[in-house]
Amino acid sequence: MNSLKFNEKVCATCPSADCLLKCQYMTFEKDEAQKEMLKVVKGEESRVLRDCVTCYACEEYCQRGNHPFYLIEERREEKGIYTAPRPITKQWINMTLMQGKQMVGAVKDKAVSCCFIPALGELGTGELFKGLSSAMVFGAEFMCPAVHTHFARMSVVKERLPVVIDNFVKLGVKEVICLHDECYGTFTSIAPAYGMEVPFKPSYYLDFLLERLQEMKEKIRPLNVKAAYQRPCSNRLIPQKHHLVKEILDLIGVELPGRTYQDENALCCAEILRSVSGYQLANDVQQRNIEDMLQAGAEYCVFNCPACQTSLSEKVTKKGLKPIHLIDLCKMAIGEKERGIE
Ligand code: SF4
Ligand code: SF4
Repeated sequence: MNSLKFNEKVCATCPSADCLLKCQYMTFEKDEAQKEMLKVVKGEESRVLRDCVTCYACEEYCQRGNHPFYLIEERREEKGIYTAPRPITKQWINMTLMQGKQMVGAVKDKAVSCCFIPALGELGTGELFKGLSSAMVFGAEFMCPAVHTHFARMSVVKERLPVVIDNFVKLGVKEVICLHDECYGTFTSIAPAYGMEVPFKPSYYLDFLLERLQEMKEKIRPLNVKAAYQRPCSNRLIPQKHHLVKEILDLIGVELPGRTYQDENALCCAEILRSVSGYQLANDVQQRNIEDMLQAGAEYCVFNCPACQTSLSEKVTKKGLKPIHLIDLCKMAIGEKERGIE
């Protein structure tokens, strides 16, 4: 089985320990952050293994190319320190089992991956996805297994990811356009971290969307609205792609007013935190996040991940915000979708 390529020496000489120092869920002095991370590296007991809420953010905070979050989850599994009650962990493993029920469209050189999220099929339609909607693939067979990192079941990730990669290879595709950040993050961050080869080109849907919008520039009618962006946890695996959100929103006339919980300080949707750390933390995170969106004067709450959208839609609606997926906002700007309709 593939193992994590983690460079212990890089941590031993790290001047910042930003991975833990910037963590929004645990507080450390700088010396302590360095010591605790080195304990994790050496496989020793550390409070990090008990208290990390699995927000993925340290994958972004580490600027030295190591993988602190994957290592924390490896160490937890080695020590049997699981993050959630066993039935929840098992439920996720069972729910995402490959059962030969995948759906494969008219795939040629390119496939559009809907992961195992039905809502992505509806989003990947219309003028923006012209010629590609028929190339969708969906199902557990094509699902990135990154969700199991939340439950410290790295063994499931290591077992399933090569099978998922192989399932794409069997389609004979050269390129896979990922509609879910977690898939793109899995192919471009987790796979190389574990030395797994990805023999096709993973493409990120926001790169694709920006390019399509630039091609269709004459069709864009600026929306002239303010929005708050709900950054998903999996975007922490691909922070180099975060700038695309602002570029796309600029192009369609959507302003992102400054707020406390954005960019590096973003708070996740918190539904996985509910399973891992309990309802009090999840409710607190969601309340702070939504209050921050309101204080920034946002009209819309823009989602990138359908799972975040499911978690927060009702809650933001109750507070007077309009929940919408980024693709639907783009469809609105090119006149394919009515304003204000979810
Ligand atoms: S994981 Fe990165 S930020 Fe953290 S101690 Fe190691 S090198 Fe430094
Ligand atoms: S995953 Fe999040 S909660 Fe856990 S150590 Fe990293 S930044 Fe902190």
